[in-house]
Amino acid sequence: MKTRHSHLIAALLLSLLPLQSVAEQRIANNSDAEIRVIANDLSSNDQQKIHQWLSKLVGSIEYTFGKFPLERANFNVRTTRSSREPIPWGQIKRRGTEGIHFVVDPSYPLKRFNQDWTGYHEIAHLMIPYPGDEDLWLSEGLASYWQQFLRYNAGVLTEQQAWQALYAGFQRGERDTRYSSIPLYRLSDDMHSKRSYMRVYWSGAAFWLEAEYLMLSQQHTSVVTRLANAYRPYRTQSFTSGERVIRALSGEQWPQLSRLYRKWQESHGLQMPLKALDWFGVKVQKGKVRLNPNSPFPERRQLAYRAAPSDNRN
Ligand SMILES: [Zn+2]
Repeated sequence: MKTRHSHLIAALLLSLLPLQSVAEQRIANNSDAEIRVIANDLSSNDQQKIHQWLSKLVGSIEYTFGKFPLERANFNVRTTRSSREPIPWGQIKRRGTEGIHFVVDPSYPLKRFNQDWTGYHEIAHLMIPYPGDEDLWLSEGLASYWQQFLRYNAGVLTEQQAWQALYAGFQRGERDTRYSSIPLYRLSDDMHSKRSYMRVYWSGAAFWLEAEYLMLSQQHTSVVTRLANAYRPYRTQSFTSGERVIRALSGEQWPQLSRLYRKWQESHGLQMPLKALDWFGVKVQKGKVRLNPNSPFPERRQLAYRAAPSDNRN
């Protein structure tokens, strides 16, 4: 979910807006998935723009994940005006046909839609089922991690910018020390009332980077490769548990990932994942990320960015 104060206003608008002239369109894709856009109140130009933006999002997840994660999905789009950003609100819908609710301001140009992180964040959520409130950190972490690399894969960010944005997120999480007596799983359950978005989101993202490092260095396969293969051909469940996600990812015989999961579940603050950053050749000097251009670092990073099509292990 996108967390800004504007989401409350947008939610209110959403409930007040009359449903008028609903238009429904299919999005062409390479996964044979049935993806529908249901939008109200759009001129044909705006409708085209929204369609192009959503097609780009679908393309970015298919490129990264190797396919669309679901057999069918609905994008419900409502409009607002005079927003300070093109996509002031987004939320995953799990019940019934899964999909995403978006509130958009169609006065922004297509380029701004394509650059905005919100769409990439939301669509990344679709990679795994909802793991439950205590494992919300796992879900929000996945989306926060992938909003960077989906944008890189879509050509919206450079590789350096993607890592810089990830690192900046870790710093925000690190600074959120208000509830350091509460372990992450309990804070996740209470995230909205405590407004602990930064620690929950970015601790989760740090977990996923450490998982990536473990998988690639010890199992020689990437997280996204394993996730895509765990949910084959499409993901059918909308709800799961963190435990099941970890099992799907690591297999029964490999306890390291479970240990990493427990470490973060019980964590009382975000520890910068320095060892993992180092393994990928990501150095930080005075807050600025530098990527080591020498082998083997670029190759390691590239392996993490998209699912390997030839990996059939389950
Ligand atoms: Zn989210």
